[in-house]
Parts: sequence; C-alpha cells; structure tokens
Amino acid sequence: LPVIAIVGRPNVGKSALVNRILGRREAVVEDTPGVTRDRVTYKGEWLDRRFTLVDTGGWEPDAKGIDRSVAAQAEVAIDLCDVVLFVVDAKVGATSTDEHVVKLLRRSGKPVFLVANKVDDARQEPEAAALWNLGLGEPHPVSAIHGRGVADLLDEIMAVLPDVSAVAKNEIGGPRRVAILGRPNVGKSSLLNKAAGEERVVVNDLAGTTRDPVDEVVELGGKLWRLVDTAGIRRRVHLQQGADFYASLRTSTALEKAEVAVVVLDVSQPISEQDVRIIDMVLESGRALVLAFNKWDLLTSPELEDKERRRYLEREIEQDLAHVSWAPRVNMSARTGRHLDKLVPALQTALESWDTRIPTGKFNAFLAELVAEHPHPLRGGKQPRILFGTQAGTRPPTFVLFTTGFLDPGYRRFIQRRLRELYGFEGSPIVVNMRVRE
Ligand code: GDP
Repeated sequence: LPVIAIVGRPNVGKSALVNRILGRREAVVEDTPGVTRDRVTYKGEWLDRRFTLVDTGGWEPDAKGIDRSVAAQAEVAIDLCDVVLFVVDAKVGATSTDEHVVKLLRRSGKPVFLVANKVDDARQEPEAAALWNLGLGEPHPVSAIHGRGVADLLDEIMAVLPDVSAVAKNEIGGPRRVAILGRPNVGKSSLLNKAAGEERVVVNDLAGTTRDPVDEVVELGGKLWRLVDTAGIRRRVHLQQGADFYASLRTSTALEKAEVAVVVLDVSQPISEQDVRIIDMVLESGRALVLAFNKWDLLTSPELEDKERRRYLEREIEQDLAHVSWAPRVNMSARTGRHLDKLVPALQTALESWDTRIPTGKFNAFLAELVAEHPHPLRGGKQPRILFGTQAGTRPPTFVLFTTGFLDPGYRRFIQRRLRELYGFEGSPIVVNMRVRE
C-alpha cells in the first residue's frame, strides 16, 4: 500500500489528525492484541483507496530534544513514505524547528502537504495563509478536532498518492524483496556490507523497479535481491530517547515493503524479548521468515570455543522460538563470511512456501483424511463438522474452512500442524480461518 507519514512538532495535533483520518471514515484500524505498544502504522481508506498511515508522533520528546527529534521524524518519513503531511499549528505559526524541517522536506523531492492545523473556523484562515512563506506551497487549513477541511485535504492527497503500491509494481518480475531486521548490534550492517560488497547494483538502472533510494539491489547466489530500507541500517538514527520507537517504525515499514524477512540474532548474547518482539512483528505482517544466527565465529573458533553458551542457545531456541520452529535457521558469521551462502537457499525455500498453492481437491482430501482419523471432540453432544475447505490466497498461504460450528483452538492448531507435516511450508506462516454456517 502507498504510505502517508505525518510529521510535526509536539502538540501541533498530529494524533488528532491521525484519528480524524482513520476514525471518521471507519477506516480499518488493525486491532491486533499484543502489538499495540509498538504500533506506529495504520491502515486507512478514503474514497475506496487504501493506504498506510504512519504516525511519527508516537514519541514526544522533551523540550531539549525537539529539534533533533523532529528532524529525525522527517528523515524517517522521507525515506519510507510516498507522501508527507507536515503539520504546523496555525495559531503558533512557524518556529525555527519548522524551518529546519522544511529544508529537509524540500530537498527530498517527495510530495509534501503543509497542513495548518487548529483552524477551527473561517475567521482564522488568514493565520494559515501566513504559512505560505515557508515555501512548501499552499497551506491546507484544517481542524483535526472538528474535522474542518480534512475531507478536502484527503481528496488532494489522493490525487498525488501513487495508485499502484511499490509492492504491487515490483511483483512483475522484479527482484524479490528482503528486509534485514534485528535489534542493534546483532550485525545487520555487517551482513549488508558483506552481502552487498562490490556487487552492489545501482537501483535506478534496473528497468521496471521503483526508484527508491533506500533500497539496494544485490546479486547473491546468481540472483538479484532487493534489500529494502537499507538506509535504516546504514544511517542509524542516533537518538537516546525514542530509539525504540524509531526501530519499530523502521521494522514495520520495512516489513510492509518486503516479501521475506531475515531476522538477525547474535548467538553470543541471550535471546531477548526484543528479538522475540521483532520475530512476532514478522508473524503479524504475514511475511516469510528466515532466522540468521550471526557471530557464530565467537562460539566456534578454537580460542573462543564456548560449549556452555552453545548449550544455552539450544535451550533458548527451544523455549523462546518454538512458535517459529518452521523458519529456516542459518548459522553464520558476517565477520568471516562463513555460511553466508546458505542464506540464499533459505530465502528461496521460504519464498516458495510463501507462494505455495494447494489445489482445492487435494486440500479437501487432506481434510477428509484428517477428520476421519481425528474427529473434532464432541462439544455439548454436538460435533462441529468441516463441510469444505479451500485455499483463499497465497503470500502467506491462507485457508478457509466452512464449518457447522466453531472449531476449538486446539483443533485448529492440530490442522495447522498437519498441514505443515504434509506440505512443510518451511519459512512461511500459514493462516487457517473459519466460516461458520448456522
Ligand atoms: P547492526 O547494529 O545490527 O547493524 O550491527 P553491526 O553490523 O554494526 O555490528 C555490531 C558489532 O558486531 C560490530 O562491532 C561488528 O563488527 C560485530 N559483528 C558483526 N557481525 C559479526 C560476526 O559475525 N562475528 C563477530 N565476532 N562480530 C560481528
């Protein structure tokens, strides 16, 4: 989906604008339990056009850090978004912080809408007009709280928002899109540098690919791959406060663009909550997943051989990563380059699984056999029956079961397990949904 970002100083009304854009239009707000804390992107809709809205206001810095943090917001937004909404408080006017950001935005070449917020009635419109002198074109007076002007603003945004998302465009034969994810210092940029090496291809030279300067196209294993949002890895936003927020923002927008994620873990450190959270974000996104266990040299070189850590690692994987036991694991070292070549087959396997389609006949034969062997347990003297099933989609494989009653969660997990036993789906999440017929 095309991406719209909202940028601006604290208290200019960014969150109100996000709510207005999403809420009033009954937009689909992703309501996934457990990820709310990190959520910075929302799905929105206007006049049958769907888009992703990025709220950079999830983190409001203290007074000292404002300049830097707003600049960082703008930088991230410029990298990742198709359209930027730059929100200014019309009552306050432009500040020096605003002017600094304006420079960044103007240089970016991305479409920018200057939103003059808190214009609650027509009498205040001259205040908005004063913002012409920022040099970002016509100010759009709105009242995020009352809704005034927001519909007109959205109409104008839709006129410049790319119609086909970058993702859809790339589906026509472009290199497959990989996101390299992981917490700080696990070795993402080392991996990127080793992989990209001298072989880096200039993105703009490739026909039929979007010209996104934050992606790098590299040749690995004789094939081209697009590594998305590498700017986030190369040029890290150096901020104390809010670093987590930006990391989440990067992760979720990179996932938006990617087809498969490589989550890099540092084997010399215990698997942390943050590692698991990143993996869970991949699961939420429905993208294919490969786990790269990096810095393996630290556990295997003769002078550093660490048998105890290796034993712990095995246990941690069993405990913390059991829910992704289907993901290919690559034990590697970005420093020595060892087993880097194993990454490509793992990516290929994961993507193949992600694209897999099982014919309806086969799937129903599978269901019939499964039910004959293990019928659903009786519930209140009744037994929900599975009437029919079909694979509704790929990327990831998504199945729908038509049933006469709700299936127990345990039974649905059992179906998933069986599907994996039979078809593997190595490296891809799978989704099993139900439609209950009364
Ligand atoms: P990033 O924050 O995930 O991009 O991590 P970096 O690539 O910047 O790496 C963080 C630190 O780990 C640097 O000092 C790297 O030299 C080191 N490092 C990265 N990969 C390896 C590896 O495979 N083995 C060892 N021993 N160190 C590594």
